[in-house]
Parts: sequence; C-alpha cells; structure tokens
Amino acid sequence: MIQNIWCIGRNYADHAKELGNAVPSEPLFFLKAGSAITQGETLALPEWIKDLHYELEIAFQFGNDRRFSHIGLALDLTERTLQSQLKAKGQPWTLAKSFQGSCPVSALLPLSGSPDSLNGSSEWALQLKVNGELRQDGKSSQMLFSPEILREFALRHFPVVPGDLLLTGTPAGVGPLHPGDRLDGELFSDGKSLLRIAWKRP
Ligand code: ZN
Repeated sequence: MIQNIWCIGRNYADHAKELGNAVPSEPLFFLKAGSAITQGETLALPEWIKDLHYELEIAFQFGNDRRFSHIGLALDLTERTLQSQLKAKGQPWTLAKSFQGSCPVSALLPLSGSPDSLNGSSEWALQLKVNGELRQDGKSSQMLFSPEILREFALRHFPVVPGDLLLTGTPAGVGPLHPGDRLDGELFSDGKSLLRIAWKRP
C-alpha cells in the first residue's frame, strides 16, 4: 500500500508557460492521497468530474533507505476548470487533484539489482499519445529541478516513508480527456524504451 504521492507542479518551463504560470524558484509540491492510485487499463472516475485533463509524469518510488528504488509512469489526472477556480481564489488544489482514481500508475521497475541496472541511466524520457497522436514528449534534462533535487527537498521537508511515490511534473502538451479516448504512455532510459502503458477513458 502506497501511503503518499508527492507531486510537483511546474517542473518543466514550457508547461508552466502553457498554463500561464511563472517559473518557480523552488519546487512546488502538492499531495495526492495514496488511495487515489489505480492500476489497470480503465480509468474509473467520479461522475462529477467534468473537465478532465491528462498529465503524464515520470514517477519514482522511495525504497527502504529513502533513495529511489523504482521508476514508472503515472497520470496526474486533473479537473482543470476546478483547479483554475481554486488557484484564482488562492485555495488548495485537493478537489481538482486528489479525487478517486486520480492517479493511475504503470508497473514500477527496479532501478538496481538487475543485470542491466537502471541506476546508471543519465536521461529519462516520456511520451504520451492520445488516440494515436503524440501530445507530450519530455525528458529529465528539461526539468527545472532534477529528480535528485526533488528527492532531497522532499526528505528535508516532508514525512516521506518507504513506498511513497514522487511524481516529477509534466511537460507541455496537457489537454482534455474525453469519453472513449485512449492514452498510450512510454518511458525511456537513454533513448531505450523501458515500458509502455495504455489507458482508456470509458
Ligand atoms: Zn502534474
């Protein structure tokens, strides 16, 4: 059972710009409930969700020594209209970000301990296709705060426990998700495909 999902907003400059936000000088953290995690291909969402947006993100899992032990992909599903309203009022984003089913997660791959250990990887990348069309294409070198900086920031400020996830933010290209849409995500290590995941909104 994953207790906490530590999320980062505006970690790619081009995504901060597309939503009209300033580029932050410190990591912008927010939380999703650990119980918002879902696995499996079908996105099951509360019926009150109207303006659903996808954000594909590289996710790291904390191990027992609170270093990163696993990597995968996650969707930071967002009710964008609600988020904009909450932002305008200076209120927390919880309703827009932490609803039931708001964090679909792929398989998580171990970073070390295998013959082709991923610990030596110098660049991570992700791609997202919606209905076969490439919408998001980002890499870790474009992040304003690297995964390691985010890990250290999280440990310094928050009660991180083993098993927690850290979502590293989304690149540009976010957009609405309509009934019947299909999402295909892919994670890369130094240009090599590591995993693929498909989701569908019923
Ligand atoms: Zn996000």
